[in-house]
Amino acid sequence: MEGKLYTGEDYKKEFDSQNYLKTYYTFDSGTVAENEILKFNLKNLFETFSSAGVRGDVLSNTGPGPTIYQLLSACEAFREIIASDHLQQNPQEVKKWLKKEPGAYDWSPAMYPRKKKKKKRNAIDPVSRGLLKWDSNQPHPLGPAQVPPVNCVLTLLALECACHDVDAYRAAGRGLVSLLKPGGHLVTAVALRTQHYMVGAKKFFGLHLEKETVEKALQEAGCQVLRCRYSPVSYSEAHCINEGICFVVTRKSPRA
Ligand code: SAH
Repeated sequence: MEGKLYTGEDYKKEFDSQNYLKTYYTFDSGTVAENEILKFNLKNLFETFSSAGVRGDVLSNTGPGPTIYQLLSACEAFREIIASDHLQQNPQEVKKWLKKEPGAYDWSPAMYPRKKKKKKRNAIDPVSRGLLKWDSNQPHPLGPAQVPPVNCVLTLLALECACHDVDAYRAAGRGLVSLLKPGGHLVTAVALRTQHYMVGAKKFFGLHLEKETVEKALQEAGCQVLRCRYSPVSYSEAHCINEGICFVVTRKSPRA
């Protein structure tokens, strides 16, 4: 294992999308903790985008990485999805899956019932408009891209990788809330008390956040916390050092 902790510009070069998928989304018996975390997120996403009534016109998915599981329920609740990531290599993986290219990642274990599989790919493809650049550490996270305010911002397991301290996390929260229409929803999952995480043999920085810090940051950014679900499940120690995960649904003040 290499001793170096990757951050910043190095991060962009060293993050290997396929290794990331193999580490966290392998769906076999060797990765019980990772599967539990995926199930926790899928269940909460399903509840959020069906019974909790978070739906509308446009959803902005910031920091999807090379994954699509977060869109399986969202694609049925929104007319359009705009994805934005920090790294060029991640959207290439997603495009392979959308186009069924050779070597595309097999997401079928995350999809149930199985007969819906084809429908899902067909639903995600037309709703996911081009991919934008996202830097959570900028006050205008989507840079010069012109995106009218959206109904929902979805960001899972990304800000704790991107922000180097709690102040940066708070500022990133404000940046994401600024993308929302008044009354829009910000939906996020955060791996708590993270120290670092591995992608292949490379170690990446992770921010130590408590559940209360996450809720407070979102409230200070102008959102009401509608629901905050916590699970004590942590990643396998060989992959990531963290303690617990939370899934938060918030709403920007209608008067903001
Ligand atoms: N959301 C995915 C991937 C998380 S991997 C999942 O649920 O598994 C961590 C993500 O943080 C990557 O997509 C990476 O692009 C993003 N990231 C890292 N630094 C960032 C920054 N400065 N701004 C925005 N995103 C960043």
